[in-house]
Amino acid sequence: MGKRILLCFMGLFLFGLFCQQLSKEHIDMNQDSQGSFALERRRMVEEQIMTRGVEDTLVLNAMMKVERHLYVPEPYRPYAYNDEPLPIGHDQTISQPYIVAYMTEALRLKGGEKVLEIGTGSGYQAAVLAEIAREVYTIEIVEPLAKQASDILQAEGYDNVFCRCGDGYQGWPEKAPFDAIIVTAAPPRIPEPLVEQLKEGGRMIIPVGTYFQELVLLTKKDGEISKKQLIPVRFVPMTGEIQKK
Ligand code: SAH
Repeated sequence: MGKRILLCFMGLFLFGLFCQQLSKEHIDMNQDSQGSFALERRRMVEEQIMTRGVEDTLVLNAMMKVERHLYVPEPYRPYAYNDEPLPIGHDQTISQPYIVAYMTEALRLKGGEKVLEIGTGSGYQAAVLAEIAREVYTIEIVEPLAKQASDILQAEGYDNVFCRCGDGYQGWPEKAPFDAIIVTAAPPRIPEPLVEQLKEGGRMIIPVGTYFQELVLLTKKDGEISKKQLIPVRFVPMTGEIQKK
């Protein structure tokens, strides 16, 4: 009788060990040895971004490097490399990886630029920009998001990213003009102060519209602005001053 109980315990113990090993292998498959999700990130770049036509190697390398899962709330980490936007709290979202890559490529950054972002959100887009540009100035209107993004960007060593909490409508006049401006919340029309803060030869990418939105690329050449409509998109609305006018 005693022997049987002992055998039973041994069996349970071995089964436990087996299960533990299985779950370890599962984690390894998803997170690789450093827990950095490198495999999933490569798949994201190849299957979601390159296949849709993004080819700028600076952008592809940045998307390969920035650890997107660190910028999404804990419960969504397993989905961080999915082909979709994800909630980041406060009714806001982190954009779909392809859209981040597409907008970054449209800015035609070569390194050395000063970039302004309106809508820091999770801080992910700012990190991608910071991998390429010299300096990134980013403004977020929701205070807890601004604080959280600033903390993670600092922890990840991005000392070329400068965060500010406030309404991005007025841009960042003390640091203007900018080589490139990226807006990641949709205003019903293009905020004039941002256009003014664009350097000669500069590019701005911005989703414009309310329910139906279009990504618009603005270029400033000889003081003149040219606009090109790119693709239909769905961003959270830009709040603050723009909604009052
Ligand atoms: N670039 C972000 C996407 C954030 S979603 C990322 O990589 O995660 C858009 C963000 O714009 C939201 O966090 C929202 O709070 C912010 N936002 C909306 N209106 C704004 C405004 N007037 N000024 C600054 N940020 C604004």
